[in-house]
Amino acid sequence: MDSLEIQAIEIQTVKEIIMKTTRFAPSPTGYIHVGNLRTALFNYLIARKNGGEFILRLDDTDPVRSTDEYADAIKEDLAWLGLHWDRVEKQSDRIDQYNDSAEKLRKSGRLYECFETPVELDLKRKKQLNMGKPPVYDRSALLLSDAEIQSLRLNREGHWRFKLDLERINWKDGILGDLSIDAASVSDPVLIRGDGQFLYTMASVCDDIDFGITSVVRGSDHVTNTATQIQIIEALNGNVPSFAHHSLLTGPKGEPLSKRLGTLSLRDLRANGLEPMAILSYMSRLGSSEPIELFDNLSDLTENFNISNFGAQPTKFDLNDISPISKKYISGLDVSVVSEFLLNSGIPADKIPDFWLMVRDNINTQAEVKNWWSICFEGVTPLIDKEDLEFISIAKSLLPVGTFDENTWKIWTSEIKEVTGRKGKALFMPLRKALTGVEHGPDMSKLLPLLQKINI
Ligand code: GLU
Repeated sequence: MDSLEIQAIEIQTVKEIIMKTTRFAPSPTGYIHVGNLRTALFNYLIARKNGGEFILRLDDTDPVRSTDEYADAIKEDLAWLGLHWDRVEKQSDRIDQYNDSAEKLRKSGRLYECFETPVELDLKRKKQLNMGKPPVYDRSALLLSDAEIQSLRLNREGHWRFKLDLERINWKDGILGDLSIDAASVSDPVLIRGDGQFLYTMASVCDDIDFGITSVVRGSDHVTNTATQIQIIEALNGNVPSFAHHSLLTGPKGEPLSKRLGTLSLRDLRANGLEPMAILSYMSRLGSSEPIELFDNLSDLTENFNISNFGAQPTKFDLNDISPISKKYISGLDVSVVSEFLLNSGIPADKIPDFWLMVRDNINTQAEVKNWWSICFEGVTPLIDKEDLEFISIAKSLLPVGTFDENTWKIWTSEIKEVTGRKGKALFMPLRKALTGVEHGPDMSKLLPLLQKINI
């Protein structure tokens, strides 16, 4: 082997070590919301930052609740945000692989059949609690003889549990730090239901192994699952990924967000006209030790993302905080980025550059351009207070003739000032209200040349 070849191998090895494969694994049983977005974004950023793969995994093993419509909606929402995945996998396509893994676990004695009904299990739990014991499954199914199992099978569908090694499970969480859970304090997890349906734990673990996931980032409601998942991965001879569990979002006052998540779907945010980059910028810093700031594009955002800056504390989410970031993003947009949208909104091509410069600092959402264009194009019913009637009529008589440009406003208002003696707000506000119908809006010197119809 020459030195170049050795170098190539070394580079390859380094690449493999730092490359990170992540996944975002929603169940297509509803629209994704801001809580899911946190998980999706973190996983996306880690994969992109480390030149790895970002997999969209649809956890659709529950055939009753999972739908294609929701799966499509998830893809649409992620695409709208610009969080493009490298590949998509569906758990419902992978039943054969789950069967293979289940068989491996049966052979090694780590998967055992149980026949307790939910009512029986509940009774057991209550008894344990009454005796002051933790409600951990007592493994009585392990004592069944083959003959007993055969006879039970005649009347009941057996479910399958993973036999945990009763030892401490330790791992270093990327956000929560060193964690340790005693396997004896949790029940052997059910991996396969009585009707044969593979449950999340089984499917997720097989997928993480088969897809070479190196880094799992998800909500802290999955911390206990992690302990059992580590043991199952080891039992299947898989590579244990690194884990990081981000804190759950709360409302602005610390109240649980879970009940409001129904109104915080990405669809709602889109309908509210919030800009994807504003949402992503906010979410990439919320709950971290670094200040929230606006990033212009995903690559800057990726560059500046660091999972280790996030803390374990519950994170307050306030939708109102995104609007100013969104507004700022819009005001920084170059006309070239929005010209197609403006053209589609009915603004003539030759007016677009000046119109955008006039309007961009004064809108919260891009959709608001329509309103301003209608003010320019159709004019408004002037808003004139009684005491300003005469003032406006004088102003009208002084309106310069010919084409308006950015100096017209200054020339016009100087003349009005001279004739009427008004100045400041008393001079400008009645004019603004008469020309636009509202009290707030763009710089009048930029707006005036765009007014096609002046109805005063
Ligand atoms: N489908 C699971 C969920 O949405 C995925 C959890 C995981 O990331 O392992 O909670």
